[in-house]
Amino acid sequence: SRSSYKWQRVLLKVSGEALAGDQTQNIDPKITMAIAREVAAVTRLGIEVAIVVGGGNIFRGSSWAGSSGLDRSSADYIGMLATVMNAIFLQATMESIGIPTRVQTAFRMSEVAEPYIRRRAVRHLEKGRVVIFAAGTGNPFFTTDTAAALRCAEINAEVVLKATNVDGVYDEDPRCNSNARLLDTLTYQEVTSKELSVMDMTAITLCQENNIPVVVFNLNKPGNISKAIKGEKVGTLIGG
Ligand code: UDP
Repeated sequence: SRSSYKWQRVLLKVSGEALAGDQTQNIDPKITMAIAREVAAVTRLGIEVAIVVGGGNIFRGSSWAGSSGLDRSSADYIGMLATVMNAIFLQATMESIGIPTRVQTAFRMSEVAEPYIRRRAVRHLEKGRVVIFAAGTGNPFFTTDTAAALRCAEINAEVVLKATNVDGVYDEDPRCNSNARLLDTLTYQEVTSKELSVMDMTAITLCQENNIPVVVFNLNKPGNISKAIKGEKVGTLIGG
């Protein structure tokens, strides 16, 4: 049964930074609850929601690599483990308000979560469950944005919805230039050639090669997550 909304199946990317909010703690439970409530509302409309969580609120491999003899791969594995913590927190929050949710990890942690199995993930979605993909791609030197693009392509989701702390993509850095304009739409080409910091190159080119549109929006504005999932105009749409 198709929903009457723009998207039938979406991939929501929630960065670690967004989960932290303005808290000094790593996670702001008000934010995880807001995400859970808005996702609950749209799953009731029949839209299938998969989520990729970041881990930057706890550990970012690139900023630790090199210090105290920590090699990049080890640092990145710690970063991937951080995403699992966020995933379990978000799952518990969702289930506390009655949304059936499964976490699938890119490397095995069988006592904690299911391993990533593509067909099983799709089955969960078809049954109306939310699937949270954790541990990124399972590989060091990648990001959770790339994991979002990859999982989106794999499960045939129609769009990557990138929830951030900013309203969308600007033509200039709004922190430096008060005249910076928020852009409605952008092509992949514009993102890569102007080096706009939307996503890393690997992630954006993966989206481009697979014709996956990306919506960048602010998750701190109430209603924005459900708007984005329902395909209503919010933030910046990248495609074409
Ligand atoms: N990471 C990785 N491979 C992946 C995804 C993530 O090695 O496929 C590691 C990397 O160290 C990264 C950390 O996990 O810094 C947290 O992910 P990310 O920085 O993408 O989180 P976000 O910026 O969304 O909070």
